[in-house]
Amino acid sequence: MAVNLLDFDLEGLAAYCESLGEKRFRAVQLYRWIHQKGESDFEKMSDLAKSLRSKLAGAAEVRGLPLISEHRSADGTIKWLFDVGDGNAVESVYIPEEDRGTLCVSSQAGCAVGCRFCSTGHQGFSRNLTSGEIIAQLWFAEHRLRRGTDGERANATNDTRVVDNVVMMGMGEPLQNYAALVPALKTMLDDHAYGLSRRRVTVSTSGMVAMIDRLREDCPVALAVSLHAPNDALRSELVPLNRKDGIDALLDACVRYLDKAPRDFVTFEYCMLDGVNDTPELAHELVRLVKGRVPCKLNLIPFNPFPASGLKRSPRERVMAFARILQDAGIVTTIRKTRGDDIDAACGQLAGEVQDRTRVHERLVRSPVRVIRREAPRQETKA
Ligand code: SAH
Ligand code: SF4
Repeated sequence: MAVNLLDFDLEGLAAYCESLGEKRFRAVQLYRWIHQKGESDFEKMSDLAKSLRSKLAGAAEVRGLPLISEHRSADGTIKWLFDVGDGNAVESVYIPEEDRGTLCVSSQAGCAVGCRFCSTGHQGFSRNLTSGEIIAQLWFAEHRLRRGTDGERANATNDTRVVDNVVMMGMGEPLQNYAALVPALKTMLDDHAYGLSRRRVTVSTSGMVAMIDRLREDCPVALAVSLHAPNDALRSELVPLNRKDGIDALLDACVRYLDKAPRDFVTFEYCMLDGVNDTPELAHELVRLVKGRVPCKLNLIPFNPFPASGLKRSPRERVMAFARILQDAGIVTTIRKTRGDDIDAACGQLAGEVQDRTRVHERLVRSPVRVIRREAPRQETKA
């Protein structure tokens, strides 16, 4: 099969061009055509040497992802479903806001972590996406919207950037697909490609400690950690991989990450589940856990229900009360606005199409999460 040029960051493309006997500056030209202009036809890359164009023809291609469907929400959110072969599909979501456009990108077909409250987790895991399949989501969204004629952005011209913020919060656990993730991140950041600042690219993780350390060395972008609980007993029920490292080690990794991070805080995401993790006692326990230890912001996400989860969204007043306790303790706390829920594009609703080889869904429904309402605070289980 032809080499997919979307698989390469600039270094990779330069090495590939060198293997064809071409100089590095040719790779820069090619990279700019692909990512800045959205061009996939080598013949149209007019200032690219004829000799390179003919070497590329047949040997290489710019292979995007086949689009299965596009859904547009009343609030302007757009969800795309892409075919990644073998019956699997992944989703990306574009969220326009007043001052910026955010793209939520998938990293895997399915997810092996299997969080109780996540529709992707219930689908099981099929496979990692390649770097090309990760960056193809941005390549597609950026150039489709830029060329769009139906006013996604009133002032969009052919060269105005449309996506100025990327969050790795679609399907999959990005740090479980590290080797493919990093070149894709590098292309997002590269001035010859999308030129996003490191603050405008966020990796969201369920908390893989060793990989957080590697990301800090290889490509420190903004970090979001899906915490969801202030103690190990509850977190291990909600996010099974917590059993491996535990919260203590996770928070230490967050502190180490901040040495190199483009922002001076980590964002903790906390999905508000009715009667599970939303009590005032747990809010106080969360304050005790992070305050003075990890510079952080808290982002409370109203749970987006899906039938198989057996869980419910916390009532608005409980979310507000939880937020108030954190804010009163001096922790900057936001409540995420739910966008695109009329097209099932909200956080955790991305299900795509996953040929579930792990049968995780059956395991999850056989042992549903205990819905508990505690009167007394849980004991912290810090080691
Ligand atoms: N695997 C990564 C990134 C993808 S999930 C991670 O877990 O961080 C992106 C965010 O959506 C995470 O914070 C996740 O906890 C949250 N999420 C998952 N399912 C959800 C649901 N049903 N409702 C609201 N948020 C959800
Ligand atoms: Fe995977 Fe993230 Fe969903 Fe957990 S919340 S199952 S880590 S995608």
